[in-house]
Amino acid sequence: MSQNIVGGCACGAIRCETDAAPVAMLNCHCRDCQRASGSGYATILVVPKATVRIRGEPRYYKTVGNAGRAVERGFCAVCGSPVMSKLERLPDILVLTAASLDDPSLYKPAMDTFTNSAWHWDAMTAETKKLPKGTTG
Ligand SMILES: [Zn+2]
Ligand SMILES: [Zn+2]
Repeated sequence: MSQNIVGGCACGAIRCETDAAPVAMLNCHCRDCQRASGSGYATILVVPKATVRIRGEPRYYKTVGNAGRAVERGFCAVCGSPVMSKLERLPDILVLTAASLDDPSLYKPAMDTFTNSAWHWDAMTAETKKLPKGTTG
């Protein structure tokens, strides 16, 4: 039994929903995710793109990561909430942000990635796997 994952931005212009189970959940502490989130890390909830129904049109800002792969981070042009990201390397998935969900308690991260760029004020739980340089270690 998978729970529906439902969310959107602060003003309601963007809504998204999937009944697929998340493929992965992780916190990314890379500098690009820090800037996009305005915080110590981005919450990354990975779902199969084909299953996601989106209402509204996110604006996307593209960055190219250390490995030369583009990430497009989508946000609401009205209220600015970061809601979803697309990865060039993985075209079949969509990333949703945990706090954009109507029920953020669904988010259970298993990993912290790019912990080498985490700051001293960014406390991490001991329970997650730590990958200092990204998803491959
Ligand atoms: Zn909005
Ligand atoms: Zn990142």
